[in-house]
Amino acid sequence: MTDLTAVEVIRAKRYGRALTDEQLRWFVDAYTRGDVADEQAAALLMAIVWRGMTPHELASWTDAMIRSGDRLDLSGLGKPTVDKHSTGGVGDKISLPLVPLVAACGAAVPQLSGRGLGFTGGTLDKLESIAGIRVAMTNEEILQQLRDVGCVICAAGPGLAPADRKLYALRDVTGTVESIPLIASSIMSKKVAEGAESLVLDVKFGSGAFMTVRAEARKLAEAMVSIGSRNGVRTTAFLTSMECPLGRSAGNAVEVAETLEVLDGGGPPDVVELTLTLAREMLALAGIDADPAAALADGRARAKWDEMIRAQGGDPDAPLPTAAHTRVVPAPSTGYLCRLDAMAIGIAAWRLGAGREDKDDPVSATAGVTWTKAVGEHVERGEPLLVLHGDDKARLDAVTAFAHSAYAIDREPPAPAPLVVERIAR
Ligand code: URA
Repeated sequence: MTDLTAVEVIRAKRYGRALTDEQLRWFVDAYTRGDVADEQAAALLMAIVWRGMTPHELASWTDAMIRSGDRLDLSGLGKPTVDKHSTGGVGDKISLPLVPLVAACGAAVPQLSGRGLGFTGGTLDKLESIAGIRVAMTNEEILQQLRDVGCVICAAGPGLAPADRKLYALRDVTGTVESIPLIASSIMSKKVAEGAESLVLDVKFGSGAFMTVRAEARKLAEAMVSIGSRNGVRTTAFLTSMECPLGRSAGNAVEVAETLEVLDGGGPPDVVELTLTLAREMLALAGIDADPAAALADGRARAKWDEMIRAQGGDPDAPLPTAAHTRVVPAPSTGYLCRLDAMAIGIAAWRLGAGREDKDDPVSATAGVTWTKAVGEHVERGEPLLVLHGDDKARLDAVTAFAHSAYAIDREPPAPAPLVVERIAR
C-alpha cells in the first residue's frame, strides 16, 4: 500500500520540485495499470514539459517505463548485440542497409522499429513494400532469427515498455510531445527493453527533423546517452543534419530501391557516408574489428539482406511495386541547386500517400518523391529535378504545384555543409 496520490505528484512537479524515485515509479506503474486517470497523467506530462526533469528524475522515470514490460534477453546469442536508433527524418532509410551490413560483419542486430506518422517515414512502412514480408513477430521468433540470420527488422511487440505506449498516445493528443526528458525517456525505454548491449543514436536536426535547432538536438542526444549508460547499454550519438532529405528518394518502395543500390555497392554518397559512419561506430562499440565498406563492396551485406528478407517471408527477388503515374518537375532555370528542403519534400511524399495523418491510416507503397540532384550540383533549365510518384492523379496534380516550394536554384554553388556534425559519448 502507498499513501501517494496523483494530485500530490502533479502539484509537486507543477511547483518545480524534483520528484522522488518513489513518486516517479509509483506514478508510471499506477498509470500503466489504469489506477491513474488519463487527465491526471496529462497534467503531470504538461508540468514536466514546463518544469523539466533532473538527470536523476529522468533516470528513475525511464527505469520505471522499462520495468513496465518485458526486457528481451539476448545474452544467449553468443555474439555481441548492437542496435541503432534515428530520431527520424525525410528520406531516412539508413536502418535498411545498416542492419544487414552490421550483421554481415559479425554482430547480432535486433532492430525493433516503428511506423511513420506525419511527414517522416517509418522503417516498417518501407519494408512492407516488399512482397510477402512479415514484420509482426513474437519474442521467440525474434530470438530465433537473430540466432539463424543475425539480424531482424520488425515491429516492437506490445510487451515492450507498455508505459511508453500509453504515455506516447496521450502526449500525442495533449500537446506534450516536445519535451527533451519525455522524448528521451520514450525512445530509450524501448531501446533498453530491446536488450542490445550497445546502441548508436542518430539524432537529427534541421528543417526535416523533430528538433530544428542543433543545440536542442545536442541536449536530447546527451540525455539519451546518459540514460543508456546508466542502464548498462554502451551508447553513443551522432548529430546529423536534416536540412536536406537523405539520398535521392522519400517514400516507401522508392526508398527500398535506393537501399538495394547501397547494398549492391552504389547508392547516393550521403546515404553511404551515414550508413558507414553508423556501422563503424556500432562495430566499435560491439568490439568487432571489421571493415563495413568491404562488406558493402563484396556483396556480403546484400547477401545478408536477402537472407533476412527471406527469413521474414519476403521475396528479395520480387520486383518492387511502382506507381501508376509519375509527374516530372523540371528545373525552371540553369544554376546550382542551393536548397532542397527536407520538410517540403517530406510533406510532398506524405500528401502523395506515402505517410499517414492518423496512426491507423494505410500508406501507399508506391507513392513518394525522387530527385535527380543533390544540393550543390549543377542543373540545366528544363532537365528533370523532382519526380513525383503516385497512383492518384488528383493528388499528383495538387502536389506538383506545391513541389516548387521545395527547392531553390542559384547562380553560385552553396557552401558545402557537413552531414555528420558531432559525436557524443560519455
Ligand atoms: N519517438 C518516440 O518513440 N518517442 C517520442 O517521444 C518521440 C519520438
